[in-house]
Amino acid sequence: MILYDFEYERPGSLKEATALLNETGGDAQLLAGGTDLMPNMRVEVVTPSLLVSVSGIEPAAPEKCADGSIRIDSLTKLSDLVDAELIQNELPMLAEAAHTVASNQVRVMGTLGGNLCQETRCLYYNQKHDYQFVEPCYKRGGDCCYPFPGNDRDVCWAVYMSDIAPVLIALDAKLEILGPDGTREIAMADLYTGDGMNPFTLGTAEIIQAIFVPPVPERFGWGYHKTTVRGGLDFGTAIIVIVLQLAEDGETCCWAKIVYSAVGQGPLRPTTTELSMEDAVLDPALIAVAASQEISPLPHHGFNKGFLRENIRVYTERTLVSAIECAQGKI
Ligand SMILES: Cc1cc2nc3c(=O)[nH]c(=O)nc-3n(C[C@H](O)[C@H](O)[C@H](O)COP(=O)(O)OP(=O)(O)OC[C@H]3O[C@@H](n4cnc5c(N)ncnc54)[C@H](O)[C@@H]3O)c2cc1C
Ligand code: SF4
Repeated sequence: MILYDFEYERPGSLKEATALLNETGGDAQLLAGGTDLMPNMRVEVVTPSLLVSVSGIEPAAPEKCADGSIRIDSLTKLSDLVDAELIQNELPMLAEAAHTVASNQVRVMGTLGGNLCQETRCLYYNQKHDYQFVEPCYKRGGDCCYPFPGNDRDVCWAVYMSDIAPVLIALDAKLEILGPDGTREIAMADLYTGDGMNPFTLGTAEIIQAIFVPPVPERFGWGYHKTTVRGGLDFGTAIIVIVLQLAEDGETCCWAKIVYSAVGQGPLRPTTTELSMEDAVLDPALIAVAASQEISPLPHHGFNKGFLRENIRVYTERTLVSAIECAQGKI
């Protein structure tokens, strides 16, 4: 597939980048590693007339701030995130999640900001619309939805598949966002609308500048699981992240967070189940049943709802066992 003609700018700072995006309005797009955007431009899922590349801007290395939080530049390549000693030592779950993304070739190009802002995916959407299909779908401005023909025209059930976003939500990360009027800060979870048609809350000229991850408390435990069909170079079938803190007795859970990715238009949390875990000695099998019943996974890429629910039940139990053992210092 031959790429269409477009304009290209390579500013020297994010400030210049946001000004360029602002001048051109919604018709310009930021280009980071291009591993998500370029394939989407090739199949004409998106057709920006101007690309504002940040490839000439050197990201700062991850660093520890005075308040103990860790600052990560959004332009950090995923391979650098995996290799950074600070991340491996202080945020091993983030290093593991970054390592599960795609392949080494994609990770040396792909950035953290691009990973968080990757487009939602759908078997129909991720190919040229006239390849197998007659009409463009709702998300492409057409009159139908191929996988979900009963949906209203403003509803798109394409799935958000970032491996890293659920980790940053679980860790209570904050995003520093740069726009034409300056910077603002939002909670990581607030980046998502939950709407497959327009998945992000960012304005057209806004850029994620940095990610801040606060320190974790004592007796903190985590578990991460990504189901894939091939085991490598593969988007997730379902991604599960669990974090928790145990009380001094090493048994009682003070609080827990469960975050799922690849099963909704944005990351999903079973908040009622999470609440039931507070100040309780956990039964992983019961928690897994409750969580898998509470969320409603979207069928995607040939996986039906029943299969995904069962996958989530099985791996929520195993991931929770890992998180508890991690908090107990056993692993
Ligand atoms: C073969 C293949 C396999 C893949 N497998 C996985 C996988 O297993 N898991 C996974 O999570 N992803 C996967 N991806 C998706 C993607 O490559 C990665 O998520 C990557 O990290 C995207 O980063 P990028 O810098 O290349 O983004 P780009 O393609 O440059 O940008 C993606 C989108 O984010 C926007 N954007 C980029 N940076 C910012 C920023 N700082 N602020 C605001 N918006 C921004 C861009 O405008 C664009 O809309 C895969 C891609 C390919 C090609
Ligand atoms: S789910 Fe969304 S992207 Fe997929 S065909 Fe329907 S409207 Fe298009």
